[in-house]
Amino acid sequence: MFTLFRRSLGLLCLTFGFSASASEPAFVPRATKVTDNVYAIIGPLGQRSEANAGLNANYGFIVGANGVILIDSGASAHSAAMLEKAVKEVTPKPIRWVLNTGSQDHRWLGNGYFAGKGAEIHAMAGSVKTQQSSAQQQLDSLKRFVGKQLDGTAPSYATKVHPAPEQSLVIDGVRLKWIETSAHYPGDTMIHLPDASVVFTGDLVYVDRILGVLPQSNVRKAQAGFQRLEALKPKHVVPGHGRVTDLAQAKRETGDYYDFLIKNVGAAARNMDSIGETLDKFAKPAQFMHLENFSDLHRANMNRVFVDFEANP
Ligand SMILES: [Zn+2]
Repeated sequence: MFTLFRRSLGLLCLTFGFSASASEPAFVPRATKVTDNVYAIIGPLGQRSEANAGLNANYGFIVGANGVILIDSGASAHSAAMLEKAVKEVTPKPIRWVLNTGSQDHRWLGNGYFAGKGAEIHAMAGSVKTQQSSAQQQLDSLKRFVGKQLDGTAPSYATKVHPAPEQSLVIDGVRLKWIETSAHYPGDTMIHLPDASVVFTGDLVYVDRILGVLPQSNVRKAQAGFQRLEALKPKHVVPGHGRVTDLAQAKRETGDYYDFLIKNVGAAARNMDSIGETLDKFAKPAQFMHLENFSDLHRANMNRVFVDFEANP
C-alpha cells in the first residue's frame, strides 16, 4: 500500500515536473538600442507558440521627429499590440509608419492593427504580391500555433507600395534605402539606414540559428542579396532572426552558408551526382553545426538546393 502510494506520488511529481519544464515562459517584447534613434526587438528562435504570440522573428523601429517608423508589424492584432507596448517604453510618439520587410505571417499580419490607428503601411510590390497569395494559408496554419490570439486579425495590405528592386525614401526625415532580396520568400526585402549604418535584413540573414531554405526560397538570389548587403558595409546588422550583430557574424553564419550550399550541393546537382551521396558527404560542416536548429534543417536545406539546381542548372 505504502509502496504504491509512494510510486503514484513519484509519478505525479514526474508528470508535474515534466509539464512545468515543457511550458515555455511568456515572451515579452523589449526594445534593444542599436544606435542613436534606432531600436530592435529580438524575438525568440523557436517555433511560433501562444507563449511567444507568433513573434518568433525580429522587429525594429526608428524614432523620428514626428513619430515612429516600425519595421514589421507582428503576427496578429494581438501581437501587434505587444510590439506597440515595447515601443511605448522608449518613446511616447505614435507609430505612424509601418514597413513590411517580407511576407511571412509575423512580418505583416499586424498591419491592420496599426492601420486602424492611422499608421501608413508601406511594402515593396513583391512582398504584397506574396502576402496576397499566401494570406489564407498563413492564417490557417498560424491558428494551430496561437489559437484565439488570432481572433480579430484580418489581412491588411500596404497602401504605399514601392517598386522593386531598389527604392530610396525619406520618411519623417529618416533616409532609407529599400532593397529587394527575394531570399527566403519571393519579394523579401532589406532596409538600409545609411545615416545610422544599420541594415534590417529581413529573412536574408539569420544568426545564432541556422537559416531555413524553403520551397519558396531562392538560394541564388539569397547569395546575391548577401553580396549586396556586404557592399553596403553596415556597422550594425539586425538579422531576421538572432541577436543584433555585425557583418562578420552575418557572413560566418549566413553568407558562408549560402556559398557552402551553392558551391557543394548546387555543383553536385549540376554534375548529376547522386543526391543521397551528396547529402551524406556534406552532412557535417563543422563551421555550421553549432547553430541552433542545425540537425532539424540542414539536410532538408541541402535537399531543396539540390532539387532547385537539378531543375535549373
Ligand atoms: Zn523568418
